[in-house]
Amino acid sequence: MPQTVTDDRLVSLLAQEEARFVDLHPRSAALAREARTHLLSGVPMAWMTRWPGPFPLFLQEASGAHFRDVDGLSYLDLCLGDTGAMTGHALPQVAEALHAQALRGITTMLPSPDAAWVAGELARRFGLPKWQLAMTATDANRFVIRLARQLSGKRRILVFDYCYHGTVEEALVMQGEHGEVLPRPGNLGWGAHPSELSRVAQFNDLRGVEDALRHGDVAAVLTEPALTNIGIVLPDEGFLAGLRDLCDRYGAFLILDETHTICAGPGGATREWGLQPDFFVIGKPLGGGMPTAAYGMTDDIAGRLAPFLTGVDVDVSGIGGTLTGSALALAAMRATLSSALRDEDFARAVPLARAWADGVQGVIDRHGLPWTVQVLGCRAEYWFCPAPRNGREAAAAGQPLLDAYLHLFLLNRGVLMTPFHNMALLSPHHTQADVDRHTEVFAQAVASLLA
Ligand code: PMP
Repeated sequence: MPQTVTDDRLVSLLAQEEARFVDLHPRSAALAREARTHLLSGVPMAWMTRWPGPFPLFLQEASGAHFRDVDGLSYLDLCLGDTGAMTGHALPQVAEALHAQALRGITTMLPSPDAAWVAGELARRFGLPKWQLAMTATDANRFVIRLARQLSGKRRILVFDYCYHGTVEEALVMQGEHGEVLPRPGNLGWGAHPSELSRVAQFNDLRGVEDALRHGDVAAVLTEPALTNIGIVLPDEGFLAGLRDLCDRYGAFLILDETHTICAGPGGATREWGLQPDFFVIGKPLGGGMPTAAYGMTDDIAGRLAPFLTGVDVDVSGIGGTLTGSALALAAMRATLSSALRDEDFARAVPLARAWADGVQGVIDRHGLPWTVQVLGCRAEYWFCPAPRNGREAAAAGQPLLDAYLHLFLLNRGVLMTPFHNMALLSPHHTQADVDRHTEVFAQAVASLLA
């Protein structure tokens, strides 16, 4: 934050924006009051309390890159359901496929003819030859961890400080000052102490990774190709190749979770950057917003797993879950993968992310701020400092009050950003006019901050 802006001033600006938010949203306020009666914290999912403003907006309808709230106000959506709707909202092809399949049966625990098509398309895009489905990225990560443990006979998972992979206990950890493994603050109800299940290193630190792997007890390294959940932290040149080598040297599987980094291109960072994971995980946008996820693996792994996953008394846990791979989920995935997230969609969305970043950079330059903007495919983000190289630096760079002010200022003028970050996700449904609108409002927010 510029030295000239005090916390007191931010608090007072934020209070003005909160008052404006309350004025603008009487209907959302009434629904929020009603929802508090029977919903824990007044919302169906705890993160919905984390939006800017004293209560969440209630949705009327969403389409393409925009949505309308119950007070009749329209918004430019740069969050897109935190990637769940990165295809754009309400894709007609997905809606029609869902409707048609729902009328033909939703779930039977039998594969539908879409199954082979979906797996073939996943293999074509992401390069891994064998696939299984899940319903969420969290679940897919959990399942892959179990499979990696089963095959390796090792227990621990290596993750990076401030990573996020869903409610995966092994990943809700952080590195203490002396390298120790600690539960991440806010990690509710953990079972085993995380030091029993996990090892932690800093992103972009191959020496730290090697120190952790040297213990010989790590079944898998689980990471995003670029961290995206503590802001965007890009890999240094050679980091991911070095990680691959270290995994091979120490007999650990490399799991790439591309749930967010699919923003790098139609085949994720794996295809874009020529990576070679052992397991590949993706969730969120795969079903155009329907809960679906998938994990891919090499032929070698598939061959070694086969004996554990077929037959009468194997895999008693039912990895995947009863509803996974339902006819409805498969129909959603087929419709999504054949009409969205394609080369031509990225060809539209990636330049828009670049234009969004250019707009932000222009404002930064105009005011001589020490802020930076980064782009990862169709996702972009700004920092209030030089771009951090690992999770610890990224966490230390956070300015929650400034974030809260900027997010609420933008929301009050019809622009929704991804919560927790200053991140925007662009889709083929956005336009240059949308990008210009963001630039204009961002410029106003910064100007009023520095006034
Ligand atoms: N992996 C990554 C990289 C994520 O960013 C997230 C969610 N933000 C998840 C997994 C978990 O996804 P879900 O909540 O849909 O299970």
